[in-house]
Amino acid sequence: MSNHEGSYMLNKVLRLLEARGVFTTLGPEATRRLVIDIEKLSRDHDCNSNEILEGMEERLGICWSCMTAQTDLIDGMCASCREQEERVQSRYRSKQPFTPP
Ligand SMILES: [Zn+2]
Repeated sequence: MSNHEGSYMLNKVLRLLEARGVFTTLGPEATRRLVIDIEKLSRDHDCNSNEILEGMEERLGICWSCMTAQTDLIDGMCASCREQEERVQSRYRSKQPFTPP
C-alpha cells in the first residue's frame, strides 16, 4: 500500500509554496534541497516521490525516481533512470508468454 493521499497533499503544498513565491525567494538550489528533504520525510509515511513531484519535476530540476538534481528530464525522469526503467520493462516484456498475432 502507498499513501497516495499524503503524496498528492504534499504536491499541493509544494504548488502553494511555488505560487506564493517561496521557491523564487529561496532560489533553485535551496528549493531543491527543501523538496528533497520533504520527500525524505515523506518516506516514513509511505508516500511516492512521483506523486509528490508530479508535474513539477522540470521546474524544480529534480528527477522523481532518484531524487537528485537533474537537467535532462523527460516525464520527470533523468537519462540514467529512464535507461534503468527501459531495462526493467524489456526484461518484463521478455517474460510475457508469447501470444500469436
Ligand atoms: Zn533519476
